[in-house]
Amino acid sequence: MNCKKVKELLMTDYVDGELRPDIRSKIKEHLAGCSDCRTLEEALQRKAVEPFRNAQKVQAPDIVWEGIKDAIAVPERAPVFIIRRPAFSLAAVAALIFLTIIFARPFFISHGPVTEYVQEQAEFFAYLDTGANGFVNGEDEGIGTAIEEYFL
Ligand SMILES: [Zn+2]
Repeated sequence: MNCKKVKELLMTDYVDGELRPDIRSKIKEHLAGCSDCRTLEEALQRKAVEPFRNAQKVQAPDIVWEGIKDAIAVPERAPVFIIRRPAFSLAAVAALIFLTIIFARPFFISHGPVTEYVQEQAEFFAYLDTGANGFVNGEDEGIGTAIEEYFL
């Protein structure tokens, strides 16, 4: 822990006794080896802690607390997501759609197994539609199997 961080903690949580034990022990280790920080710690104890150690606790009047509450009360906030520039938002959405199409295109164009299967099926139906096989137009007697004779 460097001197800057130690001094920052000395002036805040350390003198208030609010530090976690592990951080407090790191500061004590630093103070053992650093006279500059130790001088600051002693001055803080002498001027900021000791004078108030036996001070009488005073209860603030209610009107003071009301003033504090009013001062720190946070007004209700508007929704966080506000579209201040609709044209800019529209352009951003259009750009996002355009980029999605550009980058997703190779996935749809690629000849994966599904695409090949669909293409085979389309070619098969196109072949049936031409009547080249004789199944559709009935001009051919087929291949003459028993099943074919039964159904046709
Ligand atoms: Zn130091």
